[in-house]
Amino acid sequence: MGSAVKLKKMRISFEHITHRFTNESVLQDINLEIDRGEIVCIIGPSGSGKTTLLRIAAGLERVQNGRIMLNDLLLANSELHPPPEERSIGLVFQDHVLFPHKTVSENVGFGLRNVRNKERLHKIALGLESMRVVEVSDRYPQTLSGGQQQRVALVRALITEPGVMLLDEPFASVDVPLRKQLREDARKQLKANDTATLIVTHDPEEAMALADRVAVLVDGKLVQTGTPKELWHAPKHPFIAKTLSGLQTLRGKVQGPRLKTAFGDLSLSLINGRDKLRENDRAEIGIRPEKVSLAPSESPCFVRDIRFFGQKYVVFIQGDRDTLELHFEKEPSINIGEKVKLNLASAQAQLLSID
Ligand code: ADP
Ligand code: MG
Repeated sequence: MGSAVKLKKMRISFEHITHRFTNESVLQDINLEIDRGEIVCIIGPSGSGKTTLLRIAAGLERVQNGRIMLNDLLLANSELHPPPEERSIGLVFQDHVLFPHKTVSENVGFGLRNVRNKERLHKIALGLESMRVVEVSDRYPQTLSGGQQQRVALVRALITEPGVMLLDEPFASVDVPLRKQLREDARKQLKANDTATLIVTHDPEEAMALADRVAVLVDGKLVQTGTPKELWHAPKHPFIAKTLSGLQTLRGKVQGPRLKTAFGDLSLSLINGRDKLRENDRAEIGIRPEKVSLAPSESPCFVRDIRFFGQKYVVFIQGDRDTLELHFEKEPSINIGEKVKLNLASAQAQLLSID
């Protein structure tokens, strides 16, 4: 393995990774490749296996089935299990543990113990500068804000120039305004280092903003991997439709040439993916909430609430059981409590699942 871990520019591949804890299947046949310089975000519901996947690559968990490759060399499989420190993989986890009794500089320099003093100090200064924490270099971790600690943890991981970086919710403890700046700084550094990076986040906006590609993990399966644009335009799973694509989902039943929903019917010809639909199928579709118009009408649906969200007005329509959120640029001329009919003709519907 010695030669593999010294290569700087790396591609990491997960091949057929399947993992269980006691009787519970946690990851099923995961195949994912992250190229050098590429940033891939994993997003998925809590408990879907995101952290486990990172722990397996880092060497904190043994590979049970499948293998992990660095470039074309085997890094780990069920028989080969090099320890974390021999993997040339940088790690930053949510509960980033900086050494409490070391200063920021000492923390960051830890991975450079074998580098000459002068060069080490130079690298530490450059690293801290690149993440804008040079002014806290002599302080101890507990005196820093959450955001500063995350920045230091990132510098510490980046400073040894690992070929691969694994980040598990690295910005979760940082407040929103600082978070955006932090992730932009992180992306810039990761790109500058040409690092293959896998970032777990539960924030869809963050995934869209950071990633070259997004991998969506649901119940231990990768349900879709694609560029933010691909996932936005053609989500293949209800979770993606609701979180990343900003679609509203609704259920209906196929009757003749139409899908009957609690909010009105729409022609099957408007549904992307309609070829899979058969008579009497129950299907879930996603629609663009800004493409639906409303008109007062006798109908089982009514306006439950109207709210102003800054860039848009959001109207909550109550059907018999479900609620639909529609978005409008201008204040809609409709009142709370009013019965309404929806025009779904330009909703840009996407088939998500068939029961
Ligand atoms: P995520 O990071 O997506 O929230 P995790 O990878 O932490 O998910 O966990 C996936 C599943 O595996 C969960 O059901 C979790 O309870 C379980 N799990 C995680 N680590 C262990 C462990 N060491 N032993 C047993 N079960 C675990
Ligand atoms: Mg996790």
